[in-house]
Amino acid sequence: MPAPLTLPVEISFRVTLDLETATFYDLQREVRREARQALLRALRTSLGEVEKALLAAPILCPGCQAPMRSRGRTMRRIVTVFGSLAVRRARYGCAPCGTVRRPLDEWIGLAEGTEYTAAVREQVLYLSADLPYERAADVLRHVAGIGISGRQIQRLLEAESEHIQAAIGQVHPDGEAPLRRRFRRAGRDGATAGAARVLQLRKLKTSGLWEQYWARRFRQEGAVPAEAAGRSQRSR
Ligand SMILES: [Zn+2]
Repeated sequence: MPAPLTLPVEISFRVTLDLETATFYDLQREVRREARQALLRALRTSLGEVEKALLAAPILCPGCQAPMRSRGRTMRRIVTVFGSLAVRRARYGCAPCGTVRRPLDEWIGLAEGTEYTAAVREQVLYLSADLPYERAADVLRHVAGIGISGRQIQRLLEAESEHIQAAIGQVHPDGEAPLRRRFRRAGRDGATAGAARVLQLRKLKTSGLWEQYWARRFRQEGAVPAEAAGRSQRSR
């Protein structure tokens, strides 16, 4: 078991204010904007340190068990609770079998093609349990600075719903007036499936299992088996 990693994180920034014209509101807005940028920089730096630690030991091919060769870095964008972050992560290849691994991706655990980290998905879906997708997107943009569309939220819920169902079971949508309003304009089948997913989400939120559910999801996100990760990345 390796020793815990200590990551020194410096958060520091400047704001410039003209006291003749600027208000306390302006100060809060400036501090928030600069703080978010500083948090993103801190996250990028910390991820760099995590990757360094991951690459300290030889990276082995899950199939051949042989050390893999470094094959440069490629860029990927992920959406964190502090905003969107470009991650340039190291890529390793196995010459005999062609398997590719990206150790930082495996640690982060986000499937290729998924941009939104579990921390963001939790916040997005928490709001979506009570608000229509477009309204939830608007609140997230306005309050949390998370840029996401209603359609993207809908897709996130679709992807999450099998996990939610596994956790709390099937929910039967009988007589939910607010939901009928919410899904009024959707097509008949879409409305049924969409409403069922939202009901599931609500049940999860009101069941008292929300924290427990997401605590497990955060761990699962970081637990992609090396073999599965190797397989999924081989085709590219
Ligand atoms: Zn191999």
